[in-house]
Amino acid sequence: MSQKPHVIVGGGIIGLFTAFYLLETGREIVIIEKSDGEEGCSFGNAGMVVPSHFIPLASPGMIEKGLKWMLDSESPFYVKPRLSLDLIKWGLSFYKNANQKHVDKSIPYLRDLGLLSKSLYHELAEELKYSYEEKGLVMYCKKAETFEEESQVADLANKIGLKAEILDTKELHELEPNIKPDVAGGIYFPGDAHLNPSELVKNLKVYLLNKGVEIKYNSEVIDFYGNNNKIESIKIKSSGKVELLEPETLTIAAGSWSGVLAKKLRFNLPMQAGKGYSISKSQLAGKEIFIPNILVEARVAITPMSGSFVRFGGTMEIGGLDDTINMNRVRGIVKSIPDFFPEYDLPMPNQEEVWHGFRPCSPDGLPYIGVSGIFKNLFINAGHAMMGISLAPGSGKLMSQIITKEKPEMALEGFLPERFGI
Ligand SMILES: Cc1cc2nc3c(=O)[nH]c(=O)nc-3n(C[C@H](O)[C@H](O)[C@H](O)COP(=O)(O)OP(=O)(O)OC[C@H]3O[C@@H](n4cnc5c(N)ncnc54)[C@H](O)[C@@H]3O)c2cc1C
Repeated sequence: MSQKPHVIVGGGIIGLFTAFYLLETGREIVIIEKSDGEEGCSFGNAGMVVPSHFIPLASPGMIEKGLKWMLDSESPFYVKPRLSLDLIKWGLSFYKNANQKHVDKSIPYLRDLGLLSKSLYHELAEELKYSYEEKGLVMYCKKAETFEEESQVADLANKIGLKAEILDTKELHELEPNIKPDVAGGIYFPGDAHLNPSELVKNLKVYLLNKGVEIKYNSEVIDFYGNNNKIESIKIKSSGKVELLEPETLTIAAGSWSGVLAKKLRFNLPMQAGKGYSISKSQLAGKEIFIPNILVEARVAITPMSGSFVRFGGTMEIGGLDDTINMNRVRGIVKSIPDFFPEYDLPMPNQEEVWHGFRPCSPDGLPYIGVSGIFKNLFINAGHAMMGISLAPGSGKLMSQIITKEKPEMALEGFLPERFGI
């Protein structure tokens, strides 16, 4: 009798890295992906690999900032008011977690997963042939008050073993001589890195296919059947046909859709999609940007990629899985650039030039990585929000260790999928 496969729902970066580390089991692996695998959140993002992001989104001050931003149509954050019980519950959980105690508890988990992932990216760059650079990250602060806040984060980073340098304007001009930032100061995290995410996803996909992984594109998981604490079969719809697949294990790595899928299994996995946009432009002659950076007040991420172009990404709209592009928010991204780099001219793009993706956001800012608790062969690897690229290889490796009951590389309690109650 043939062995049942490890099945993964979702062919984004988290599903692909889960498959990558499950290869070691020698068992058949099937990935089911509802799209053609050429778009999605894992493609057009800013590609930052950032252990420096060790503070979860749910943190003190975020509620006040969020409420202020809500009143401005070009601001980087927006929650679309909707009569949705899931959104209300998610918002209440976010509120409960936006405190210092939660931040202190989360830091070791985010730091260790960030460092693990970065070391894996370093190790795999040659084998998977993605352009990967370790040039660090600059956090530019326009206002003195923000610079003070970010300097405190830098002090904390140094205390927990992540290098951070507090730089004045002159030092920032030396770092980026072409764009002469007009800011109060900045923080340089030399340990951060970046890559081209679409190249990473494509190369990983080819690697997995060559190793015998089956990837079923344009195939959607529509239901599950369980018995005796086990998922017995998965219902899949592709090209109008329905088929059943019997898994050995099932991992939900379906990004922003993971909450909806978990619901079918009567498993509570709070998740909201945080829509973001990016625009990619060729490097400007004489104004080349060298180091990935974040414009802190504007929440805009800027990444020079593959030696030739620059990607500008930002905004977080919690508004369901709605593909509409809000050009006001895109204008907010574009307008922030000359505020920070007065000599840099980024023209307003056409709507067709704007990419969008849905960040899978848990309400406490930590991903879900672990076994489900209700079905012993159901695993979750999702909810990486703004850090899915950054945390993907570590999450994939941990997921595989959990599935195969190996000793995991690091503590996992912070990532428990059932932490919001079943
Ligand atoms: C503007 C922007 C900039 C960003 N910049 C960065 C950055 O610099 N660094 C970083 O680390 N992260 C960044 N991110 C976040 C990062 O892109 C995400 O965290 C990451 O892509 C999430 O990966 P995923 O695999 O969990 O989800 P996805 O990439 O969304 O993959 C999930 C897949 O599951 C599939 N799926 C869903 N339901 C089903 C179903 N029923 N059946 C079959 N398939 C299904 C979907 O089609 C989808 O392809 C950014 C995001 C945005 C929007």
